[in-house]
Amino acid sequence: MPETRVNNAIAEIADFIAPEDEFLLLGHEDADGDCIGSLAGMAYLLQELDKNPVIGIYQPIPEMFQLAIQDDLEIEKISEDLPDINRIIVLDSSGQDRLGPAADLLDSRTVLNIDHHEDNDFFGELNFVRPESAAAGMIIFELADSLNWKINQNAARALALAILSDTGFFRYSNTGSRALEVVQELMELGADIHKISRSLYGQNKPEAMRLLGRGLSRIEVSGQGRIAYFYLNREDYRITGTSSRDNEGFVNFARNISGVEVGIFFSEEVDCIKVSFRSNDYLRVNDIAASFGGGGHPRAAGCKTSGELDKVIDRVINEVKKHV
Ligand code: 5GP
Ligand code: MN
Repeated sequence: MPETRVNNAIAEIADFIAPEDEFLLLGHEDADGDCIGSLAGMAYLLQELDKNPVIGIYQPIPEMFQLAIQDDLEIEKISEDLPDINRIIVLDSSGQDRLGPAADLLDSRTVLNIDHHEDNDFFGELNFVRPESAAAGMIIFELADSLNWKINQNAARALALAILSDTGFFRYSNTGSRALEVVQELMELGADIHKISRSLYGQNKPEAMRLLGRGLSRIEVSGQGRIAYFYLNREDYRITGTSSRDNEGFVNFARNISGVEVGIFFSEEVDCIKVSFRSNDYLRVNDIAASFGGGGHPRAAGCKTSGELDKVIDRVINEVKKHV
């Protein structure tokens, strides 16, 4: 890891992009709306510059984010057949270790790291990290705006989806007035935010709702009412015919209980226990997630741990109790 945490200047980012035609765009594991929207948005911006961007994926893209991907995007599965592209742009990822099977690709290539996680470890040859930005999509918009890149309707839609997804449609604490201004501009460039809202929140699958119901029936409140949590186990996924890709946003139901500071959701996955944390006012859940090997933002973080579900729940809840 480089010792310095100094961002490159926008002019240096422009110099990285200008001479090359081919770019491989990568995002983090279990990609969320900001990640997919940023990948698609960046790809459409690069296309307008007459470049050939390729988005490298290693997991299916959830239906709710498909709206960001309209036509004419090259999306390739990470495999041996991936075109050999020397320049990589990594979006919305705090470190190389967040890239799952794509992590190895970075070693022999030149990497531009664009991110908004405060624990970003500046893993790129070039780094553009702005923790004060509500979403990676905001940073991409600001870059495009500063460099006078053309933001076409596809790019506008994708970037709006990124920002609206990471701010929970302007409801989360990372929402600043700049986020509203940027989305206003993106609307003027053709982003339809009602469509984005329907895409993110209006296409729940019945089986995912049954899955949620099983989890919600187990809500526990602890820590003098400040901690709420629930879990889903492998049996829950099996019986409802779902997978962990169907639990997007579930953790918010725990956080939104009256009086609760932190909501926690435990998901027993094939090879680990995934823990999601969301806080309301003061608890830095990224620090707690980091103590279990994960990370994230002060109000939204996660980690993956091994061990039995009930033991993991005990360990995590006991740790959180020390801090609320
Ligand atoms: P989620 O709970 O939605 O999976 O993740 C919330 C936030 O925590 C996201 O910003 C994500 O980047 C971060 N996060 C989730 N899981 C991990 C993890 O295993 N490691 C790290 N470093 N960050 C994570
Ligand atoms: Mn993000």
